[in-house]
Amino acid sequence: VPRLRFAPSPTGHLHLGGLRTALFNHILARKWKGKWLLRIEDTDRTRFTEGAVDSLRGALDWAGLNYDEGVGIGGSHGPYTQSERLDIYHHYTKELLSRNEAYECFCSPDELEAIKTSLKAQGQRHSYDGRCRHITDEEKVRKKKAGEKFVVRYKSSNESMDIPPDLIFGNHQPSAPTSGFDDFVLMKSDGWPTYHLASVVDDHQMEISHVLRGEEWLPSIPKHHSLYKAFGWTPPQFAHLPLLCNPDGTKLSKRKGDTFVQHYMKQGYEPSALLNFLALMGWDYHSALSSKTTLDPHIRNDGNSLYELFTLDQLIDLFDIKHIANRKASVNISKLDFLNKMTLRRMSDRLGKDGHMVNLGKVNIITGEGESKERLKLINRFQDRLRKEKALKGCELVENINFVEKVFDAELPRTILLNEMPMHSIFYFKSPIYECHESQLILKDLNLRIYCQYVTLFADTLQEKSSFKKEELNEDFIWDIIHSLLNQLNLEKKPKLLIPIRHALTERKKGPSIPELVTILGLDETLSRLRKGVE
Ligand code: GLU
Repeated sequence: VPRLRFAPSPTGHLHLGGLRTALFNHILARKWKGKWLLRIEDTDRTRFTEGAVDSLRGALDWAGLNYDEGVGIGGSHGPYTQSERLDIYHHYTKELLSRNEAYECFCSPDELEAIKTSLKAQGQRHSYDGRCRHITDEEKVRKKKAGEKFVVRYKSSNESMDIPPDLIFGNHQPSAPTSGFDDFVLMKSDGWPTYHLASVVDDHQMEISHVLRGEEWLPSIPKHHSLYKAFGWTPPQFAHLPLLCNPDGTKLSKRKGDTFVQHYMKQGYEPSALLNFLALMGWDYHSALSSKTTLDPHIRNDGNSLYELFTLDQLIDLFDIKHIANRKASVNISKLDFLNKMTLRRMSDRLGKDGHMVNLGKVNIITGEGESKERLKLINRFQDRLRKEKALKGCELVENINFVEKVFDAELPRTILLNEMPMHSIFYFKSPIYECHESQLILKDLNLRIYCQYVTLFADTLQEKSSFKKEELNEDFIWDIIHSLLNQLNLEKKPKLLIPIRHALTERKKGPSIPELVTILGLDETLSRLRKGVE
């Protein structure tokens, strides 16, 4: 059974690159019918941040990336937090010492600095010359008795090593020398292991078969392979994910707030939109789509349309590690907005029957069954947010779920984030008072006499025609009225009539079509707003 792991260091909130690593681990584990675990790598005590583990877990949970073993849920290969595994690292350090694959180094920070400077002056790329390899046993005992601090270093060799190709980067390991690296530290003087030791020991002990992690760890590969060899263990397969970068190619900085997952959680992005967005970072989905011989409905290619909208299940279905491109993945946040908008529309598809196609401009989405549940959840979330909207305190209509649903459908095409929907929907629930800034601006551009004439004419016609009508108002009926009025008034441009009506109904410039508005508001409310608008 393939076993993967996500091994973040608790140094702060999870950033986008970290969530992408977790996502790819999740996708591959599910695809390969394997398992993935969450391991917390907290051996760098200087960078440890209180609350970071909870925050990491909160983000994974929000995203719906459920690991099979690990911190918080346990499992057969624990403990999963490195600070609880110190005795294990000590055990293996002793093993390497006894096999003469490691040695104790007593050099002080000042000495190390001096060694480094002189090596540099000689044009060497090493930072340590290995002088403590030669300390005699008596000397060691003496130094220890005197209370001198020491670290344990790995005895690197100059033998060249066969390193299996990286699953993503292949044999191309830019900054990775294949031999002759420093005698790097395994165990620090305070008794804490370094990343290299802990990571190799844990991956082995936790029976990890595939290590999927960020490209920044690619240079560590020779060290890790060398350690596996020293221990006599079979190394896992490695796959390094290309770095995320800004659109201009510069490194995506963790220091900017908007590279944290928390930022998107707070803003109200849909988790599946963010996952979709991150999956497109480095995953060459074009080859995924073209390699499918029989196209599934949701990836049917229709001329020029692009299909970039994937649910997690679809990602798992389509993903292949071969399709991860070995080049920087640029993060273009405006794409996330587009994906969020489309995700909301996919989730709120009314029919939710297999094969039902919703045409969303350039992107065609075919939704699967079960998604109508998502629709209900969205509408409930919308209603909850309406209840919290100050301007709507005590408004009874907010409790009318049928009305709320109509408003939801009407506003959806203009919505990027569900969170912003209530603020844009207030006018459905409360009649306008025509005092806001937007209202003043619209009126300034209109001839008041004509404004009153058009609005009154529309109100009168609507009232008269609907009095003959028994069934509920429908949009065609309203369109007919509008078209007949356009004729009657000899107006070629629709907005000449529609802008005044829209203003009287909503005191806004944009919104759903007038017929849609009228059917949502109902005849009485529509007429009352139209009359009030011309008072
Ligand atoms: N703890 C490392 C990090 O947070 C992960 C390294 C690895 O996955 O091996 O970046």
